Amino acid sequence: MFNKILIANRGEIACRVIETARKLGVATVAVYSDADAGAKHVAMADQAVHIGGPAPKDSYLKGDLIIEAALSTGAQGIHPGYGFLSENPKFVEAVEKAGLTFIGPSADAIRAMGLKDAAKKLMEEAGVPVVPGYHGENQDPEHLSGAADMIGYPVLIKAVAGGGGKGMRLVENPADFMDALQSAQGEATTAFGNPDVLIEKYILQPRHIEVQVFGDGEKAVHLFERDCSLQRRHQKVIEEAPAPDMPADVRAAMGAAAVRAAEAIGYKGAGTVEFIVDGSDGLRTDGFWFMEMNTRLQVEHPVTELITGVDLVEWQLRVASGDPLPKKQDELTITGHAFEARIYAEDVPKGFLPATGTLTHLEFPADARVDSGVRAGDTISPWYDPMIAKLIVHAPSRGAALRKLERALRWTDIAGSVTNVSFLRLLAEQPDFVKGDVDTGLIGRHLDTLAAAPVACTKARSIAALTALGLMDLPKDAGFVLWSPLTHAVSLVHNEEEIVAKVTVNGRYDYVVDLGEIQHRVQWRDGSWWVDATRVQARTARHGQDLTVFWGNAYSFEVIDPLDRAGDDAAGGNVILAPMPGLVKSIFAKPGQTVAAGDRLAILEAMKMEHSLLAARDGVVAEVLASAGDQVQEGAALIVLAEEEDAAA
Ligand code: ADP
Ligand code: ADP
Ligand code: MG
Repeated sequence: MFNKILIANRGEIACRVIETARKLGVATVAVYSDADAGAKHVAMADQAVHIGGPAPKDSYLKGDLIIEAALSTGAQGIHPGYGFLSENPKFVEAVEKAGLTFIGPSADAIRAMGLKDAAKKLMEEAGVPVVPGYHGENQDPEHLSGAADMIGYPVLIKAVAGGGGKGMRLVENPADFMDALQSAQGEATTAFGNPDVLIEKYILQPRHIEVQVFGDGEKAVHLFERDCSLQRRHQKVIEEAPAPDMPADVRAAMGAAAVRAAEAIGYKGAGTVEFIVDGSDGLRTDGFWFMEMNTRLQVEHPVTELITGVDLVEWQLRVASGDPLPKKQDELTITGHAFEARIYAEDVPKGFLPATGTLTHLEFPADARVDSGVRAGDTISPWYDPMIAKLIVHAPSRGAALRKLERALRWTDIAGSVTNVSFLRLLAEQPDFVKGDVDTGLIGRHLDTLAAAPVACTKARSIAALTALGLMDLPKDAGFVLWSPLTHAVSLVHNEEEIVAKVTVNGRYDYVVDLGEIQHRVQWRDGSWWVDATRVQARTARHGQDLTVFWGNAYSFEVIDPLDRAGDDAAGGNVILAPMPGLVKSIFAKPGQTVAAGDRLAILEAMKMEHSLLAARDGVVAEVLASAGDQVQEGAALIVLAEEEDAAA
């Protein structure tokens, strides 16, 4: 075993590798860019070396600097994680030339699988079924379009150097072929510097089922399959193992094909053989075809770990340091079922736009495995992929595991950035998915339902209002103030909707929240929120003016600052709010009274000074909510003006 390794990566996968290294007593060296100086992987490693600027090309892709860091810290091996340099054969050669061990396959094995066309040819020779199509060298557009006609529509154009779903176009009919070809080639050139494509038959009702393999350089075993059919734009969203409704003979056939693929290239280490499967009529031994092999640890490897009990990173370190394969094929078995959901900082209703932000609040459920590269207070920067965490669950049956996933997502509390958690949770409840009826088009067909922005119910809004007023934070001995029949009001914005809530004190930690159309009694006792005498599982987080209620979904609210509000004519100036906590000295307004903009309506004494509260517009006083002598919180509504239409009528 190694004494020390360097991890040439960042984020969750760097943390994941460090954890296993620690378990095995192996010292770790992290590398980091300027953007990651305070990152979790840097804090976790025994040593950390700065390698450059935030752009990957200036740091995590700088093979020479990384090798230098390994040599100077005395690391013996380099773990590449996934992405970055993990599938770069030149890097592997440079690592070996420096006398270090690359914890992964040989440069030759990576090259053999690096381009999808060459890999398909090789697999055909090895007797692995490949997707019917054209994967020859002739890149003449006329020739490619002729090949598409021969294959029969629909066809898929794929960049031979592709990855991460880039450079891929589905073409439904011949008239669209040339345009699709051009755009695929354009994207391939930009992303991979290689415009070459192959043409494949587009499998209808396709399922993506991949097999985890592990080789020692000669022999390989497989660790069963993962179903990654839940995809959006060819990117995996939720993965599971084993595949739903997988017959034993198909599992054996796919496993054997994957082992043949790995052994054909003398594969060493962890790899994944991806198959596209015809799911239109159950899974059949003649209904799966090789798509590509990923010569690295895959993002979704944890589901395999949970059903097999194998720590794949431990196997990587052991095999790279010269141990034989830790288990034989017949010693590997499946126990239970596992799911992984990829949690990203992204704005789902806005077309899954990647988001950035500082995670002001980050809490995960205790009964799930969480692989994450960030902690509360960390920032999702624009430089790297916006993954926050992978949530992974395991249970004896598929149904139980899926319910566990749904529950774990409900208890995932993230504030500071928008996330895809609600989308994932809706997906975990989607009836076809629950039945195990999956294909790669499932998300697309149900996108409208799955991607809708969650709207907080009136109970969640009431909890938000109390949190905004800070009423539950008051010390227990706040005295008569809490007991006096005081009324507060607060304005919140949720999903661009303005909410005005009026709160009446019933007793200690006991309030009635009036939202206009409905009232709720909200209490705080025994460490929980109670709404209308029912205990609810809501949690709240407040950061500045941002407030989140976690209750099935994360509902975010913006608390409207009364100081902004006072001078904000556009907002209507309907409510005169206390700009700070203080004592109401005088009130000069009566219901029904006509006032003009700038009229002094109240005096608030705070911080040993008197503050005049002025009408923001002309209008008629609708309600007076405070009286002289009241102690009020910041944001408490004191005087409400009638709506302008009402006043005019
Ligand atoms: P697949 O390649 O089958 O889609 P993955 O979802 O594991 O499988 O990875 C998608 C692509 O994005 C891969 O090429 C992977 O190397 C790359 N990738 C994934 N995560 C990261 C990351 N955090 N940083 C850099 N590259 C990444
Ligand atoms: P990448 O390198 O981007 O991961 P893949 O070749 O693995 O590219 O394909 C990505 C996804 O595209 C697959 O998971 C699958 O959903 C879809 N796909 C690929 N090939 C086909 C095909 N021939 N028919 C239908 N869907 C396909
Ligand atoms: Mg793939």
